[in-house]
Amino acid sequence: MTTPTCTPRLPVMIGSWNAIPAIAHAAQRLQGNTPLLDAIVDGIALVEDDPDEMSVGYGGLPNEDCVVELDAAVMEGVSHRSGAVAGLRGVRHAARVALEVMRRTDHSLLVGEGARKFAALLGFPDENLLTDRARKAWLDWKANLSERDGWIAPDQAASSFGTARWAGRTPHGLTAPEMLAPDAPPPKVPFTYGTIHVSAVDAAGNLASCTSTSGLSYKIAGRVGDSPVVGAGLYTDNSVGSAGATGRGESVLQVCGAHTIVQRMEAGDSPTDACLFTLKKIADRTRLSHLRDAKGRPTFNVTLYALRKDGVFGAASMHEGYEFAVLDGVAPRAASAAWLYPKD
Ligand code: ASP
Repeated sequence: MTTPTCTPRLPVMIGSWNAIPAIAHAAQRLQGNTPLLDAIVDGIALVEDDPDEMSVGYGGLPNEDCVVELDAAVMEGVSHRSGAVAGLRGVRHAARVALEVMRRTDHSLLVGEGARKFAALLGFPDENLLTDRARKAWLDWKANLSERDGWIAPDQAASSFGTARWAGRTPHGLTAPEMLAPDAPPPKVPFTYGTIHVSAVDAAGNLASCTSTSGLSYKIAGRVGDSPVVGAGLYTDNSVGSAGATGRGESVLQVCGAHTIVQRMEAGDSPTDACLFTLKKIADRTRLSHLRDAKGRPTFNVTLYALRKDGVFGAASMHEGYEFAVLDGVAPRAASAAWLYPKD
């Protein structure tokens, strides 16, 4: 695989497909001399505010108890410090809280009620993050869980998503392949992995990253994926580069995804090759039969993002057909990710 070339002029930012507005905003903030990590977190806050982005912040799909639980982390290259929150309820700007954990504490991860209390002490407003749209998605999920329980969908055709829910785009605005392998059968109920990640290098060659998510939809309460875990959902080493991950978090956690990418770049891999190496590792170590298709390929997707200190970048997905966001010139744009497995 070849590494996409980029204009060597810094800053360069890369991120998940949904990060274009975040990157545009972060680039503007950088021009106003906002520190790099603050600029990234400010950009991500825009997406956390968006009720139509159902995988991040306010409006994110809830857990199995119909409560939105957010995970986020930040990492700064210069200080080699990080901050994170997991299972955070009631506070939409999870990435900002993660940044405060980094700046105001000697800890790197606060979870659950402790994270919420910490945010409250800093003046973050406490609010209900569940939108009507996300609540209706949860009701559909609940009604389709089993034919034996007491929950029924009163009128599937007229339910919140109707029968054409998988016609191209899902009700929550994510493309179906973002969630599952492209040839996976459409699930009966809207479901998503989904996350925002941004890695960036500024004009001085310093790096930073942030990942924020509502995680796996309808997850068991308390489930935490890769996003707030340094070395899995993100990792930044100021002398090498920065990396991040979206997609099935359990698989990324089990290979220390973002750290592996940065290590491979340090050893000389191009960013794209470092992502492909890590995806191959995930695929090779996916042993459970329900996670493998008839050809032995993972049934889920993971997309990995890598940015080298010199501004060279790459991204790769488990399956063909995914995009990522990049800013290597004036305006952010979508680019095609490399892939491990082509479409049949
Ligand atoms: N990686 C996130 C998680 O597992 C979700 C995603 O990126 O799709 O929580």
